[in-house]
Amino acid sequence: MTVVKVNSKERFSETEIGPHHERFFASQEPADDPTIYKQIIFKCAKCGHEIEFNEKNFMKHSHSEYSNLNDEDKKSIDGYLKEESLVGYSFLDFYCSECKRPVSIFYKDGYGGKHGDYICSLDFVLEIELLKSLAT
Ligand SMILES: [Zn+2]
Repeated sequence: MTVVKVNSKERFSETEIGPHHERFFASQEPADDPTIYKQIIFKCAKCGHEIEFNEKNFMKHSHSEYSNLNDEDKKSIDGYLKEESLVGYSFLDFYCSECKRPVSIFYKDGYGGKHGDYICSLDFVLEIELLKSLAT
């Protein structure tokens, strides 16, 4: 089993969340509506499956120890973090619903800006390569 670190920009359509000052059309006034958020699409590099996230997913897992991975996979991820001295990140992990690849997203978040908006920066992704032995 090998843990691979990937820049979040290689997996996500958006890596910076908030504050909300979006315009959907050039003719519109900039919207300043906290209910509007960007689509954050994760694309699995192995099978191409796309998973949509929203900021609530990241808010929920902020500074949480909750993991969706099994013990073995979680240990591999934690081992990698320790080796690389990667500390201070929140994480959100899951298995790709299509190919079951274990993925863990690491991010930093908080509140800021003029209106105390939720701000989140997706930093990197750890993926576990399941190396199949050719020998049988
Ligand atoms: Zn997949």
